[in-house]
Amino acid sequence: MRNDDSPPRPEAAASAGPDHRPWFTRRPALVIAVAAMAPTALAGWVLAQVLTGSGPDGRDAKPAAAPRAAPATHATPGPSPATPAAAPAKGPLSGRTVVIDPGHNTGNFEHTDEIDRQVDIGTGRKECDTTGTTTNSGYMEAEFTLDVSLRLRTVLEAQGAEVVLTHEADRPWGPCINERARIGNEAEADAVVSVHADGVSSGNRGFHVILPAEVKGGAADTAAIVGPSRRLGERIAGNFARTTGSSPANYLGGGTGLVVRDDLGGLNLSTRPKVFIECGNMRDAKDAAQLTSPDWRQKAAQGIADGIVTFLAP
Ligand code: ZN
Repeated sequence: MRNDDSPPRPEAAASAGPDHRPWFTRRPALVIAVAAMAPTALAGWVLAQVLTGSGPDGRDAKPAAAPRAAPATHATPGPSPATPAAAPAKGPLSGRTVVIDPGHNTGNFEHTDEIDRQVDIGTGRKECDTTGTTTNSGYMEAEFTLDVSLRLRTVLEAQGAEVVLTHEADRPWGPCINERARIGNEAEADAVVSVHADGVSSGNRGFHVILPAEVKGGAADTAAIVGPSRRLGERIAGNFARTTGSSPANYLGGGTGLVVRDDLGGLNLSTRPKVFIECGNMRDAKDAAQLTSPDWRQKAAQGIADGIVTFLAP
């Protein structure tokens, strides 16, 4: 959810399910600077790419596989950045590095003391990490984000990219948000995408991409990445809408599918072009039917990948 390294907005708190109440209620109700983009030509551009029709609502809504199950495309161990077993594929992303950050970790729920620890995000201090949300039937955001990230890695590697994941639930919790940012920085990533799904009240639907605001403080200085991150985010938004049939969020962003935020450590500490994507609202039944569908998640991964390709290899 968007609150992963930030306090929730008031409406998010109001809609939080029981399994989130302790986490939300111990946070102060801060005013979050959600700088909704002024409507621009982009809004029309994004919307023009939204497929007509109802999209995949309700189709293949069976619950997802067990936690930490990899998608079929990664049922067998593939080459990892640490153990490059095969020559990278040739493609438009040859020579490019993409860092994918699966939001949260399925183990975070059992390590709340560790993830509640405060870390320095340059402009202030935030929790190391958060649990993320779940669907009403208990499908965890952290399962969703890892599944989409693994699918995304497969697509990007086929395009020739070197892909680094910040984690694969191969650690009991975390990483902390500052480490997530550092992984992208140290990889000198050409693009970084943090994958999430939101957890707000039912009826709020659609996706949005979160872009870094210009911030400066401590180790945070986003001046150099604001522009390229916006271009990355615009391309991901357009392609995500096209491949999934989803609409830009109807509850923020003014219909553009784009939101600028200055309170996310994962963005503030990045020195590489980076965005978050909230793929849908896990607490809305129609969105949840999509998010729990493997077919839909493949489309989501494809859309994100297509956006990265058009950003890096236009
Ligand atoms: Zn999240």
